[in-house]
Amino acid sequence: MTKGLLIVYTGNGKGKTTAALGMAVRAAGHGLRVCFIQFIKGSRHYGELDAVKRFDGLIDLHVMGKGFTWKSENLEEDTRMARRAWDFACETIASGKYPLVVLDEFTYLLHYRMLEIAPCLERLNNRNPDQHVVITGRHAPMELIEAADLVTEMQAVKHPYTSGIKAQRGIEF
Ligand code: ATP
Ligand code: MG
Repeated sequence: MTKGLLIVYTGNGKGKTTAALGMAVRAAGHGLRVCFIQFIKGSRHYGELDAVKRFDGLIDLHVMGKGFTWKSENLEEDTRMARRAWDFACETIASGKYPLVVLDEFTYLLHYRMLEIAPCLERLNNRNPDQHVVITGRHAPMELIEAADLVTEMQAVKHPYTSGIKAQRGIEF
Protein backbone atom coordinates (compact mmCIF):
# COMPACT_ATOMS: atom_id res chain seq x y z
CA MET A 1 0.00 0.00 0.00
CA THR A 2 1.20 3.50 -0.80
CA LYS A 3 -0.11 6.72 0.61
CA GLY A 4 -0.38 9.29 -2.13
CA LEU A 5 1.22 12.53 -1.04
CA LEU A 6 0.34 16.09 -1.93
CA ILE A 7 3.71 17.79 -2.21
CA VAL A 8 4.23 21.55 -2.55
CA TYR A 9 7.45 23.36 -3.50
CA THR A 10 6.99 27.07 -2.99
CA GLY A 11 8.94 30.19 -1.96
CA ASN A 12 11.07 32.73 -3.80
CA GLY A 13 14.26 30.68 -3.96
CA LYS A 14 15.42 28.77 -7.01
CA GLY A 15 14.83 25.05 -7.24
CA LYS A 16 11.08 24.40 -7.25
CA THR A 17 10.70 23.20 -10.81
CA THR A 18 14.00 21.34 -10.74
CA ALA A 19 12.98 19.58 -7.51
CA ALA A 20 9.77 18.46 -9.19
CA LEU A 21 11.78 17.23 -12.19
CA GLY A 22 14.05 15.32 -9.85
CA MET A 23 11.02 13.60 -8.35
CA ALA A 24 9.73 12.77 -11.83
CA VAL A 25 13.07 11.19 -12.78
CA ARG A 26 13.21 9.26 -9.52
CA ALA A 27 9.72 7.87 -10.03
CA ALA A 28 10.49 7.01 -13.67
CA GLY A 29 13.60 5.18 -12.49
CA HIS A 30 11.27 2.82 -10.66
CA GLY A 31 9.14 2.40 -13.75
CA LEU A 32 6.34 4.61 -12.45
CA ARG A 33 4.58 6.69 -15.06
CA VAL A 34 4.65 10.43 -14.55
CA CYS A 35 2.63 13.23 -16.10
CA PHE A 36 4.43 16.56 -15.86
CA ILE A 37 2.12 19.48 -16.66
CA GLN A 38 3.60 22.98 -16.94
CA PHE A 39 1.06 25.73 -16.37
CA ILE A 40 3.11 28.69 -17.43
CA LYS A 41 5.71 29.37 -20.01
CA GLY A 42 7.19 32.37 -21.68
CA SER A 43 8.99 32.21 -24.98
CA ARG A 44 12.14 30.63 -23.58
CA HIS A 45 12.97 27.06 -24.54
CA TYR A 46 13.51 25.01 -21.42
CA GLY A 47 16.05 22.18 -21.51
CA GLU A 48 13.80 19.89 -19.51
CA LEU A 49 11.31 19.79 -22.39
CA ASP A 50 13.86 17.88 -24.49
CA ALA A 51 15.39 15.91 -21.64
CA VAL A 52 12.03 14.55 -20.57
CA LYS A 53 11.27 13.38 -24.12
CA ARG A 54 14.05 10.84 -23.66
CA PHE A 55 11.90 9.20 -20.98
CA ASP A 56 9.38 8.45 -23.70
CA GLY A 57 6.55 6.33 -22.39
CA LEU A 58 7.42 7.00 -18.75
CA ILE A 59 7.25 10.79 -18.40
CA ASP A 60 4.58 12.58 -20.40
CA LEU A 61 5.01 16.32 -20.63
CA HIS A 62 2.31 18.86 -21.39
CA VAL A 63 2.85 22.59 -21.66
CA MET A 64 -0.36 24.51 -21.05
CA GLY A 65 -0.84 28.21 -21.64
CA LYS A 66 1.81 28.22 -24.32
CA GLY A 67 3.32 31.55 -25.19
CA PHE A 68 1.82 33.65 -22.45
CA THR A 69 2.24 34.34 -18.82
CA TRP A 70 -0.58 34.85 -16.38
CA LYS A 71 0.36 38.50 -16.05
CA SER A 72 -1.05 39.38 -19.45
CA GLU A 73 -3.47 42.24 -20.04
CA ASN A 74 -6.27 39.96 -21.03
CA LEU A 75 -7.22 38.45 -17.71
CA GLU A 76 -10.46 37.05 -19.06
CA GLU A 77 -8.70 35.07 -21.79
CA ASP A 78 -6.04 33.91 -19.33
CA THR A 79 -8.70 32.77 -16.90
CA ARG A 80 -10.41 30.80 -19.65
CA MET A 81 -7.11 29.12 -20.53
CA ALA A 82 -6.39 28.48 -16.86
CA ARG A 83 -9.72 26.69 -16.47
CA ARG A 84 -9.06 24.63 -19.58
CA ALA A 85 -5.60 23.72 -18.28
CA TRP A 86 -7.03 22.75 -14.90
CA ASP A 87 -9.72 20.61 -16.58
CA PHE A 88 -6.95 18.81 -18.44
CA ALA A 89 -5.05 18.27 -15.18
CA CYS A 90 -8.20 16.88 -13.56
CA GLU A 91 -8.69 14.44 -16.44
CA THR A 92 -5.05 13.39 -16.17
CA ILE A 93 -5.32 12.83 -12.44
CA ALA A 94 -8.59 10.94 -12.82
CA SER A 95 -7.30 8.77 -15.69
CA GLY A 96 -5.51 6.55 -13.19
CA LYS A 97 -2.58 6.16 -15.58
CA TYR A 98 -0.06 8.12 -13.52
CA PRO A 99 1.18 7.27 -10.02
CA LEU A 100 2.78 10.75 -10.04
CA VAL A 101 1.34 13.94 -11.51
CA VAL A 102 3.30 17.21 -11.41
CA LEU A 103 1.50 20.54 -11.70
CA ASP A 104 4.42 22.89 -12.32
CA GLU A 105 3.73 26.61 -11.60
CA PHE A 106 0.17 25.77 -10.65
CA THR A 107 0.16 28.04 -7.59
CA TYR A 108 -0.13 31.11 -9.83
CA LEU A 109 -3.59 30.10 -11.00
CA LEU A 110 -4.72 30.06 -7.39
CA HIS A 111 -2.73 33.15 -6.37
CA TYR A 112 -4.24 35.24 -9.18
CA ARG A 113 -7.70 33.81 -8.45
CA MET A 114 -8.11 32.33 -11.90
CA LEU A 115 -9.43 29.25 -10.17
CA GLU A 116 -11.32 28.95 -6.92
CA ILE A 117 -9.27 27.21 -4.29
CA ALA A 118 -12.02 25.19 -2.58
CA PRO A 119 -13.16 23.16 -5.63
CA CYS A 120 -9.51 22.61 -6.66
CA LEU A 121 -8.67 21.21 -3.25
CA GLU A 122 -11.76 19.05 -3.36
CA ARG A 123 -10.64 17.53 -6.66
CA LEU A 124 -7.13 16.98 -5.29
CA ASN A 125 -8.42 15.44 -2.07
CA ASN A 126 -10.72 13.11 -3.98
CA ARG A 127 -7.98 11.69 -6.18
CA ASN A 128 -6.96 8.06 -6.01
CA PRO A 129 -5.55 7.62 -2.48
CA ASP A 130 -2.26 6.14 -3.70
CA GLN A 131 -1.53 8.85 -6.26
CA HIS A 132 1.18 11.45 -5.60
CA VAL A 133 0.76 15.04 -6.79
CA VAL A 134 3.52 17.64 -6.80
CA ILE A 135 2.62 21.34 -7.11
CA THR A 136 5.23 24.06 -7.61
CA GLY A 137 5.24 27.85 -7.75
CA ARG A 138 5.64 30.95 -5.63
CA HIS A 139 2.89 32.24 -3.36
CA ALA A 140 1.25 28.93 -2.50
CA PRO A 141 -2.00 29.90 -0.77
CA MET A 142 -2.39 28.94 2.87
CA GLU A 143 -5.28 26.57 2.09
CA LEU A 144 -3.03 24.57 -0.24
CA ILE A 145 -0.26 24.44 2.34
CA GLU A 146 -2.72 23.18 4.92
CA ALA A 147 -4.01 20.48 2.59
CA ALA A 148 -0.52 19.27 1.62
CA ASP A 149 1.42 16.42 3.25
CA LEU A 150 4.84 17.80 2.38
CA VAL A 151 5.72 21.45 1.89
CA THR A 152 9.19 22.80 1.23
CA GLU A 153 9.74 26.51 0.97
CA MET A 154 12.71 27.45 -1.17
CA GLN A 155 14.28 30.46 0.45
CA ALA A 156 16.36 32.81 -1.69
CA VAL A 157 19.56 33.29 0.28
CA LYS A 158 21.64 34.33 -2.73
CA HIS A 159 20.92 34.38 -6.43
CA PRO A 160 23.41 35.31 -9.17
CA TYR A 161 20.74 37.46 -10.81
CA THR A 162 21.18 40.08 -8.10
CA SER A 163 24.89 40.38 -9.01
CA GLY A 164 23.93 40.98 -12.61
CA ILE A 165 24.54 37.44 -13.89
CA LYS A 166 21.96 36.68 -16.55
CA ALA A 167 20.05 33.41 -16.84
CA GLN A 168 22.27 30.68 -18.25
CA ARG A 169 21.41 27.82 -20.55
CA GLY A 170 21.35 24.54 -18.69
CA ILE A 171 21.07 26.25 -15.31
CA GLU A 172 18.07 28.57 -15.42
CA PHE A 173 16.35 27.13 -18.47
P1 ATP B 1 14.11 26.34 -11.36
O1 ATP B 1 13.25 26.25 -12.59
O2 ATP B 1 15.50 26.76 -11.68
O3 ATP B 1 13.99 25.14 -10.47
P2 ATP B 1 12.13 27.74 -9.78
O4 ATP B 1 11.14 26.83 -10.40
O5 ATP B 1 12.32 27.65 -8.31
O6 ATP B 1 13.53 27.56 -10.51
P3 ATP B 1 10.55 30.02 -10.61
O7 ATP B 1 10.00 30.78 -9.48
O8 ATP B 1 9.67 29.09 -11.36
O9 ATP B 1 11.86 29.25 -10.11
O10 ATP B 1 11.24 31.08 -11.58
C1 ATP B 1 11.48 30.86 -12.93
C2 ATP B 1 12.84 31.38 -13.34
O11 ATP B 1 13.41 32.33 -12.43
C3 ATP B 1 13.89 30.28 -13.44
O12 ATP B 1 14.68 30.53 -14.56
C4 ATP B 1 14.68 30.41 -12.16
O13 ATP B 1 15.97 29.91 -12.31
C5 ATP B 1 14.66 31.89 -11.94
N1 ATP B 1 14.73 32.21 -10.49
C6 ATP B 1 14.33 31.42 -9.47
N2 ATP B 1 14.53 32.02 -8.28
C7 ATP B 1 15.09 33.21 -8.55
C8 ATP B 1 15.57 34.32 -7.73
N3 ATP B 1 15.50 34.26 -6.39
N4 ATP B 1 16.07 35.42 -8.37
C9 ATP B 1 16.14 35.47 -9.71
N5 ATP B 1 15.71 34.46 -10.53
C10 ATP B 1 15.20 33.35 -9.97
MG1 MG C 1 9.49 27.03 -11.52
